[in-house]
Formats: sequence, C-alpha cells, structure tokens
Amino acid sequence: MPDPTLADLQARHRDLAAQITRIGFTATGTLLRAHNECGSTGCSCHTDPGRRHGPYWQYTRKINGKTVTWRLTSAQADLYTEWIGNGRALRHLLAQMKQVSDQARDLILATSTEGRQAANPRENRSEKRGT
Ligand SMILES: [Zn+2]
Repeated sequence: MPDPTLADLQARHRDLAAQITRIGFTATGTLLRAHNECGSTGCSCHTDPGRRHGPYWQYTRKINGKTVTWRLTSAQADLYTEWIGNGRALRHLLAQMKQVSDQARDLILATSTEGRQAANPRENRSEKRGT
C-alpha cells in the first residue's frame, strides 16, 4: 500500500471527526452482574454462596481516586451498557485521530523548509506555544 497523501489524511481526519459527532452520551466505569451478601446477620447468604441475593446490576466508577459502586435496575443497566460502549468508541476514534495527526504532521514538516529548520534543535529558538 502506498503512503497516504496529505489529502488522504485530511479526508480520514474529517471522517473520524464526523463519526465523533454521531456518538451519543458516554460513560466510563464498569458494569457487572453480581450476587451479593446482605446486611442481615444470620442470613444463609453469608455461609452458602448459592443463596446469595441477586443477580444485581452493579456499576462501578472511580471518583477522585475512590471506587464508588451503585446498584442499577436492568433498564438503567441497558442505558449504561450503551453509554459505556459510546465512551469506548469515542476513545477509539480520538486515538485514531491522534495517529492520523501524527502522520499528517510528519508529512507537512517533511515537505516544508521552515518545518525542517524548526525540527533542528540548533536552530530552535526557545519559543513555546501551546501545551
Ligand atoms: Zn442475605
């Protein structure tokens, strides 16, 4: 496969950006279906794993470094499944855009004299822009 042209990369970048606009709400965190032990002492769920309660949907997310867990209804779990999937798709698209940007930058710098000079550390005047 030949190397992509700048026009190819621009088209790819636009296509990825367009896909991002079609993504709905997102969430991070983990959804799991679990059987739990209850709070009442003497309940058989504490001694017999087969008599634990549930299954329940649990949603876990880190907030300020602390893991927080919520119990969800199955309707809520369906929503979270979609939102978590959207979040994963968004991160995947952003990673692809970064990769396309890296390729495009290399291509732009390779074909620009000014870029080549700026890439040379000795010619590099200390001017900082952006982060
Ligand atoms: Zn119990």
